[in-house]
Amino acid sequence: MPETTPENKIERLCIERGMKMTGQRRIIARVLSDADDHPDVEEVHQRANAQDSRISIATVYRTVRLFEDANIVSRHEFGDGRARYEETSEEHHDHLINVKSGEIIEFQNQDIEALQVKIAKELGMQLVGHRLELYGVPIKPGKK
Ligand SMILES: [Zn+2]
Repeated sequence: MPETTPENKIERLCIERGMKMTGQRRIIARVLSDADDHPDVEEVHQRANAQDSRISIATVYRTVRLFEDANIVSRHEFGDGRARYEETSEEHHDHLINVKSGEIIEFQNQDIEALQVKIAKELGMQLVGHRLELYGVPIKPGKK
């Protein structure tokens, strides 16, 4: 069988890590790669199913877990108890969750980054990572 060239970063990383990429895994990799939101397993399943109706939710669970264990995708929980996934990015970002609509906004803030390093240092630690989630509701116009 001819080697197929990976069509996205997730698939490329999987191949580099020696994972066997079946057709179903490739579809799930593509769905996650194409997602610009933070889908949960059910949403990934729906999108994958639109491309191949034989893909079961169990396969999606197993595959995202596999990708997660290999640090190719990152798992988040944004306060609603549902695990959500996104492609692991080299660029660090944090999340602000609109608790009314469920919208997830990504942001970067240099002041926060610097402050975290400072806090860790003051506590005698070198910071190697962090997770920050902010939860908010939209401010109504005219209100402060
Ligand atoms: Zn994100």
